[in-house]
Amino acid sequence: MSGNPPGMVPVSKKRNERSSSSSSGGSSSTNLSGLGLSQDLSNLFECPVCFDYVLPPILQCQSGHLVCSNCRPKLSCCPNCRGPLGNIRNLAMEKVAGSVLFPCKYATSGCTISLLHTEKIEHEEFCQYRPYTCPCPGASCKWQGTVEQVMPHLMCTHKSITTLQGEDIVFLATDINVPGAVDWVMMQSCFNHNFMLILEKQQKYDGHHQFFAIVQLIGSRKEAEGFAYRLELNSRRRRLSWEATPRSIHEGVSSAIVNSDCLVFDTNIAQLFAENGNLGINVTISTT
Ligand SMILES: [Zn+2]
Ligand SMILES: [Zn+2]
Ligand SMILES: [Zn+2]
Ligand SMILES: [Zn+2]
Repeated sequence: MSGNPPGMVPVSKKRNERSSSSSSGGSSSTNLSGLGLSQDLSNLFECPVCFDYVLPPILQCQSGHLVCSNCRPKLSCCPNCRGPLGNIRNLAMEKVAGSVLFPCKYATSGCTISLLHTEKIEHEEFCQYRPYTCPCPGASCKWQGTVEQVMPHLMCTHKSITTLQGEDIVFLATDINVPGAVDWVMMQSCFNHNFMLILEKQQKYDGHHQFFAIVQLIGSRKEAEGFAYRLELNSRRRRLSWEATPRSIHEGVSSAIVNSDCLVFDTNIAQLFAENGNLGINVTISTT
């Protein structure tokens, strides 16, 4: 039997050493061992409303129909039999779910991996077939697409973002003293790649402001590992710098900002380096 196609990394082979491609022609009899049975079983867990999988804790209606935990709160009765939904748990199905291999959520986009439901969420977060979302900070833009479509989207929908060419540039944030939470965004183009520079100003509970500066690559996590970026604030006799691997826009910058995994400084430090309310940040991209 053929294994995983070349280049695909098996995420979990603990349960199913003999994973085979589902459409191996020839015999019409169902293979009862391995993935064949497991895939048939995964169909039993399909939610009739959203077609996602019903995963533990599994609740059923009085007649035994299942509905997923996302759809359940939105329903007043069972979508199959219109009977009351109740609060009946199905422990047998929960047990079975524990040994079934479910296809990745992005199977229709090309992912061929099936895995245990306990490993599914984590894989899907890192799955290379997960669509890219708009990399602009703030959640206002709902755009999604492939990595190749990101730059055309930015140029067409976010026209105000300027791009500077070169591996060593100055990111000038103007009016850093404007009140409230503000984002400054700029693109840097070098090494045949595009990087998004973000300076985010957040208000803390005590009224103080904090600045977070970070760089993300318009590309995959793997591509991002091939680069390093340096952010530097300079004034006479003072220098503050930060070096790291750029984030990929596939993972985004919000978790890095929450964890202060970026250049972080407060208003007082910003004043030490600002001139007339404008702050220049030297940005240097290099390959590793
Ligand atoms: Zn559902
Ligand atoms: Zn029902
Ligand atoms: Zn996947
Ligand atoms: Zn957008």
